[in-house]
Amino acid sequence: MTTPTIELKPTSSPLSDAEREAILAAPGFGRHFSDHMVTIQWTEGRGWHDAQLVPYGPLSLDPATTVLHYAQEIFEGLKAYRQPDGTVATFRPEANAKRFQRSAHRLGMPELPVETFIEACDVLVQHDKAWVPAHGGEESFYLRPFMIATEVGLGVKPANEYLFLVIGSPAGAYFAGGVKPVTIWLSEDRVRAVPGGMGDAKTGGNYAASLLAQAEASAKGCDQVAYLDAVEHKWVEELGGMNLYFVYDNHIVTPALTGSLLAGVTRDSLLTVARDLGYTSEEGRISIDQWREDSANGTLKEVFACGTAAVITPVGTVKSAGGEWVQGDGTPGEITMKLRDRLLDIQRGIAEDTHGWMHPLGD
Ligand SMILES: *Cc1c(COP(=O)(O)O)cnc(C)c1O
Repeated sequence: MTTPTIELKPTSSPLSDAEREAILAAPGFGRHFSDHMVTIQWTEGRGWHDAQLVPYGPLSLDPATTVLHYAQEIFEGLKAYRQPDGTVATFRPEANAKRFQRSAHRLGMPELPVETFIEACDVLVQHDKAWVPAHGGEESFYLRPFMIATEVGLGVKPANEYLFLVIGSPAGAYFAGGVKPVTIWLSEDRVRAVPGGMGDAKTGGNYAASLLAQAEASAKGCDQVAYLDAVEHKWVEELGGMNLYFVYDNHIVTPALTGSLLAGVTRDSLLTVARDLGYTSEEGRISIDQWREDSANGTLKEVFACGTAAVITPVGTVKSAGGEWVQGDGTPGEITMKLRDRLLDIQRGIAEDTHGWMHPLGD
């Protein structure tokens, strides 16, 4: 598969410095987008072509475009961080590129070459470098690569045309006023993904399936939903968009990838970061009864969720139909915060990148 060269067609009217600075002062998450986007097309028989960096703007789609009806869509999320020397680097883009290929395969879509995925992200960050927040805090530039089926027609089959895009958005610190534990609703009825389904693909369909449970959880005063396996309704899987970790004495455990969980890059990185910090880590199986009992008897010290957006989020309270409990003393756990600080320090260029995770983009 050949990698198309990205043709540069930058905007002649970027946002003014003053307007951009005003956005960067309080970016929020996914609310503002930078001046450019990258688009690459795929057509059956021709492969990837027409790779371009163009001004950020709306797409024009025929109402019968396949993605609008049959949801053939996949996406990624990764961050670029400003380093202490003013340069910019992304975190493990190759891991996202490979997962994007796995997601594409699962949804019957063409696989974008890893180097094209990385180059598309690089080109966008390089052109919109002014949108990458300053070094010092937890702010970052969030990259959203995604792919949609663009064939026009209502026939049900894998499309013969696709559009890959990368857009970017400055992201503020996830916890503006300091890290605050979240309250989890433990869903014992609604499920996110089933064995043989697409739970291990990063696709909008999984998010659509999680929104009602998320809204119900919000109504009960919870921030996030924790899902159990779809067969026995017993084994803890993950949240709607974050993986889970359980912290025992100097030992962290995350649910194994059974096929219905998303293989988070943050999750994977923490298995290693934990070992760097002198803890042990493993992938295992945690039942809902074990979670409840180990919390009650105090052997389970801390629980946290992890993903690119928040990096690590401590779990404070767990609510379920059968009752609720406070995890630990309800405050962010010590190991949770040590892991969080170390991973963020690697991403921000403060701690040494001993695993070659950072992808530098120059200044
Ligand atoms: C993206 C995502 C995660 C977290 O993955 P990261 O690569 O760490 O950002 C976890 N679960 C689901 C369902 C996701 O979509």
